[in-house]
Amino acid sequence: MPSEQHATKYALPEGLPAPQATRDGLDKEFWEAARRHQLVVQRCNECATFQFGPEWICHHCRSSNVGWERVSGRGRVYSWERVWHPVHPALRDACPYMVVLVELPDAGNVRMVGNLIGDAREELTIGTTVEVVFEDHEQGFTLVQWKRA
Ligand SMILES: [Zn+2]
Repeated sequence: MPSEQHATKYALPEGLPAPQATRDGLDKEFWEAARRHQLVVQRCNECATFQFGPEWICHHCRSSNVGWERVSGRGRVYSWERVWHPVHPALRDACPYMVVLVELPDAGNVRMVGNLIGDAREELTIGTTVEVVFEDHEQGFTLVQWKRA
């Protein structure tokens, strides 16, 4: 029931595995920025191409001089799914919930996967404008999620 879902302080129930930053540090800046409530995307310092997820080299010019840039946190729904079947025991009573693939127009249209906060039964259209939501967890990480703008 949706009311149970809203009883928790997080968008989805507690008990899910915590996300792990990669040991090699490749996505360190993304997680640290999220902790500061900033959304960042990789950008090549040579050719200015955006890319996400993080990679050691630029996909466009193959330079290893790749940095990070803060973006607006506004995007549009490129694709979505309404999840009815729990993929983890902690989600048994949380379905349905919405997973969105968000395209970022101010970052070369790179795409990020996340949860759409709000009523999961509400109609959703491709192209709907969304904005980033930062959900702080007590274990010391922040999730990047989305809400309708
Ligand atoms: Zn490049």
